[in-house]
Amino acid sequence: MKKIKINLDKCLGCKACEIACAREHASSENLADAAKENPKPKSRIKIQRGIRIRNEEERRAPFGESKKKLPKKAVYALRCRHCSSPRCVDACITGALRKDKEGVVIHEADKCVGCWMCIMACPYGAIKRDPASKIILKCDFCLGRYTPACVEACKTDAIVVVEVDDSSGILVEEVVEEIG
Ligand code: SF4
Ligand code: SF4
Repeated sequence: MKKIKINLDKCLGCKACEIACAREHASSENLADAAKENPKPKSRIKIQRGIRIRNEEERRAPFGESKKKLPKKAVYALRCRHCSSPRCVDACITGALRKDKEGVVIHEADKCVGCWMCIMACPYGAIKRDPASKIILKCDFCLGRYTPACVEACKTDAIVVVEVDDSSGILVEEVVEEIG
């Protein structure tokens, strides 16, 4: 199973992945024309800043204490993890979200009614509202590509594709390193 893995130490926050994602989902074939589209093409990935938590001890530390001595600032790309048991799929009332045989959580726009149940259910905040279409936007793993556009655009290997043998599809590093 393919997964996108984030290397927290390598992200510069340059947003090349965001631009590449928006371009990939635009109607136009080149960046210049895509930038002129109305509404503007939108990225499914978002660069965030947060506090880095490395282990369970840090996670449980009282907030004041963790602010003083534990945290290290991190920049990272927030994106859908295509969870092995996706809560967004369970929450979707219309069947607009489903997991395909490759493990990708797919959104079928024509079935979406914009109720936002999936947004509330996703523990990672990985789903966006699209004000223009009034439905959601989420990562589709750039269907039809082996390497997603965000991965291709990242010049520091902060976002990479890895093959995961574990049928759970969970990367240990993700559980430990990413920030809620
Ligand atoms: S949208 Fe959230 S819950 Fe759904 S698969 Fe992605 S990360 Fe998991
Ligand atoms: S917003 Fe769309 S995809 Fe999300 S739960 Fe509602 S119908 Fe399903």
